[in-house]
Order: sequence, then structure tokens, then C-alpha cells
Amino acid sequence: MSGLALVLMACCVGLLLWLALNSHTPLPWVVSWSLVSLGGLLAATLAIRLGWTRRLNDPSLTLPQMLWAITSAAVAYLVVADARDMLPCMVAMVLLFGSLGLRMRQIVGITVYAFVATSTAMVLAPRLLNQPVSVVDAAHAVMLAVVLLACMGVSLRLHSLRSRLQQQRLALSRALEEHRALASRDALTGLLNRRSMLELLELEQRRCVRGQRSMALAVLDIDHFKRINDNYGHAVGDRALQAFAHTVRHTVRGGDVLARWGGEEFVLLLGDVNDNAALSLLQRIGQAVSQAVVADAPEGLRMTVSTGLTVHLPGESVEATLERADQALYRAKHQGRNCVVLADLQAPPPPPHPPPPLAPAGLTAGPAVPPQTAASLH
Ligand code: GH3
Ligand code: MG
Ligand code: MG
Repeated sequence: MSGLALVLMACCVGLLLWLALNSHTPLPWVVSWSLVSLGGLLAATLAIRLGWTRRLNDPSLTLPQMLWAITSAAVAYLVVADARDMLPCMVAMVLLFGSLGLRMRQIVGITVYAFVATSTAMVLAPRLLNQPVSVVDAAHAVMLAVVLLACMGVSLRLHSLRSRLQQQRLALSRALEEHRALASRDALTGLLNRRSMLELLELEQRRCVRGQRSMALAVLDIDHFKRINDNYGHAVGDRALQAFAHTVRHTVRGGDVLARWGGEEFVLLLGDVNDNAALSLLQRIGQAVSQAVVADAPEGLRMTVSTGLTVHLPGESVEATLERADQALYRAKHQGRNCVVLADLQAPPPPPHPPPPLAPAGLTAGPAVPPQTAASLH
């Protein structure tokens, strides 16, 4: 916009110089006026382009440039007598710029300034030339007042449309943000949902391939959760899920991510951790969960959790890691629940239908942590 203002000012300067060359106006006056007028806007454009105005309240210098251009138009009225008819046009053009960047009070203020500057020029001009005020001068003054009022009205209207648009855009971006949060989070626990967790895991997997990170994945499943629903009702079950999520989130480190995988099953991503550290963290989680209190639930209600844990091998797919953790969880359930099983990385893939009793062949439990407390739902 500042570049455009410069071009328009150059047009006016060219026009006035042409008029001066073809009239009795003293050329040095017009040349001086041209240099000062153009120089001011050029300095503003350069300051904006070079970033010097970035820290100002009005980095586009809209108001100073308008003040400059209006003053310049008023002086032109005094300097080039033949250009007087052009004044309303020039002022209107300048005021148009205000409708895009100024606040309401500034629009009114600049219009008042334009009125004062131009009417002063109109009063002074006949005196400078020792001429009486003519009807034409009066008609110019009235026309200018009408133009100023019209410009102010249009600018204010444009301003209110612009602010309404801005409000709508703000409301839209807020709605979009809320929508994104709803789409990526589980409504009950506030944890990441399965889809967002998968996206995050894919991202982490790529970082593991590049050697920037290592990760461990755990699948946590609340034991005998169906009994909680059956014994205490679905609402208590919901609050138990919330208590579980809260407990785990407050036990893990800030960078670890817990997601609700589905139902009463959760996936925990542990970054930059070895299997021993991951194992002891999950044991701590198991203990914390067994002590977690469910809000507005009978005193005796306690949960336990079974966990399958594995480390991600760089280059393998996220699905392969999750599958291994899932198999470890299966073992944890079969070893009596309320324990953590670390998947054996050397083990061949599990058989399609593993036999039910104790450890399935091939996937020897790593350090299976024995149940710490009996599942206390009885
Ligand atoms: P296991 O120890 O073998 O995991 O047994 P379980 O009872 O925990 O597992 P099962 O898969 O038999 O039952 C899971 C239950 O979780 C069944 C389902 O109704 C309940 N559930 C799933 N999602 C929700 C939920 O959002 N709220 C509530 N209250 N219950 C849920
Ligand atoms: Mg369960
Ligand atoms: Mg389950």
C-alpha cells in the first residue's frame, strides 16, 4: 500500500509539474514541493521495506503517510493555483487509504485534519494572491466538505465490515481448533485417541530410523474391567477410566505420551528409554493404578492393570512393535494379570492361535513382574 501511495504521489507530482510548465507558476516552488512530497513518502516506503517500523504500533505507517499526503495536497493548493480543482480528488484518494488500516477514531481524526488543512489553504490562497474570495472558491470549499464527509462515511462503513470479517475469521479459527482437538482427543479421558497416536507413532518411527530417537511401547489393559461396569454401573466405569488416565499421566515423564487405544486399553509411548528403565516405570504405574481412587465410587473399588512392553527396533513398522507389545500383554493376562511382561526380542513371531495355559511357546516372558496385589474387585 505504501508503494501504491508513492506511485499515486508521483502521478500527482508529474501532473502538477506539467501544469506549472504550462502556466505562470514559479517552477522552483513546484520543484521544491515535488521533492519534499515525494521524499517523505519514499522515506516511509524505505523504512517499511527495511523493517525499521516493525516494532511500532503502526508498522505500515498509514497515519503518518496520510498526514503527509494531506498536508502536501493542501500546500499544492497554495503553490499551484491552476491545480486547485484537483484538491478534492487528491484528498479523497488519500482518505481511501485510511479505510483499510485505521481505527474508527483515527478515521474521524484524519478527516477533521483534512478539513482543517484544506480549509486553511483555501482561506490563505486568495490572500496570498491578493484576490477577493470568489463564488468559485466557496463552491470548492463546499464540494471539499461534501467529499470529506462522503469519504469518512465510506471509510467507517468499510471499517465496520472489516472488523466483522475479522471477528468471523477469529470465531472460525477457534471452531477449527476445537474441532481439531475433538477429532484428535478421546472425549472421556482427554487423552490422544487411537488415530492421533498412530500418526504420532509413525512420526516417532521415522525419527528412530534416522537414529534421532529410541522408543519403547507399552499396551496397558485394565484387568477385569467388565466387572467394574457390572458391579458398580457404567458411570463408575467411566470415572474409573478417567482415574486410570489421570494416574498414569501423573506417573510418567512429561515427554511420554499416553493414548486411549480403545475401551479399557491404552498405549504408552516412552521416548529415549532402555528396557530396564521402561520396565521399572511400568511397575510404578501398576502400583499407582492399584492405589488409585475412583471419584464417587464405593471405598473398596480398586483397579489393576496388565501391561505388555517392548522396545521399538529401528526400521521395523509401528504395527510390528505394537503387535509384539500386544503379545506380551496376552502373556501378562495369562500369567495372572496385574503384572508387566517385557517381550523377548529374540523370539520368533507368535503362533496364530497361541494355546491358553501359561506362557505361549516361543515368547518367553522377559522379566515378568508378579502380581503385586490381588485384583481387588471381589
Ligand atoms: P481382562 O482382564 O481380560 O481385560 O477383562 P476385561 O473385563 O477388562 O475385558 P473385556 O474385554 O471382557 O471387557 C472390557 C469392558 O470394558 C467391556 C466394555 O463394556 C467396557 N468398556 C469399554 N469402553 C468403555 C467405556 O468407555 N466406559 C465404560 N464404562 N466401559 C467401557
Ligand atoms: Mg481389560
Ligand atoms: Mg481389553
